[in-house]
Amino acid sequence: MKDRIRFTTKTQRTQRTTKVFLVFLVSWCLCGSSSLLAAPFSFAARHDHLKGACTGKLTIGENDISFDGPKHHFRWPYLEVQQLRLLNSGRIDLLSYENGSKLKLGADRAFHFRADGGLQDAAGFLAAKLDRRLVVGLPEKPAGILAEFPVKHLRSLGGDNGTLVFGEETVTFTSQDKAESRAWRYQDVESIATSGRDQLSITTYERQRFHYATRRVFNFQLKQPISEDTFNVLWRKVNKP
Ligand SMILES: [Zn+2]
Repeated sequence: MKDRIRFTTKTQRTQRTTKVFLVFLVSWCLCGSSSLLAAPFSFAARHDHLKGACTGKLTIGENDISFDGPKHHFRWPYLEVQQLRLLNSGRIDLLSYENGSKLKLGADRAFHFRADGGLQDAAGFLAAKLDRRLVVGLPEKPAGILAEFPVKHLRSLGGDNGTLVFGEETVTFTSQDKAESRAWRYQDVESIATSGRDQLSITTYERQRFHYATRRVFNFQLKQPISEDTFNVLWRKVNKP
């Protein structure tokens, strides 16, 4: 069991630091070299309504995100995007600063789309535009794996199983439930904690719900224990100055 939890010594990490800058430039892990790809990125997309949907073209441009369809046209300059979530299922959730309907008790207006694919290419570009306002649900196995755990992701009702992987630059959770998969850069992780050898919590900057500003915590039950040394390696990654 132990050999499945891998972590590096301080010396090994030091040797790797010279490579980190190049690794970051060349393969930001989430998207290969796609961060170097240029906008615009356009997708055929479905805009979900409370009842039904319309279809159109979603464009991620240099200065804004827009949707053009026969029924609806929207445009959000990047400053007007509170949070953008790209999920593995092709779902795209955009939270604007626009006031929502009175039915939603003052929550800001959210827009929901579905695209057929191609989001991976746009993810690197969007990270540069939105930073922590971008939530990425498109996990790609990180480079330079530090630790890997089969896990159950605990939710208020039940949970989902998957694999949690800590790399040199990113942390990924690949879930059987596509909507729950995530890829975080270490700067997207607010904190990491453990209350025992078989439990790990990752607090992110993602909103708990679009209605509330609270941060989302991902609680994981580890199917094999984490050693203190490994936890310390990961803690330092999250808390590096
Ligand atoms: Zn529509």
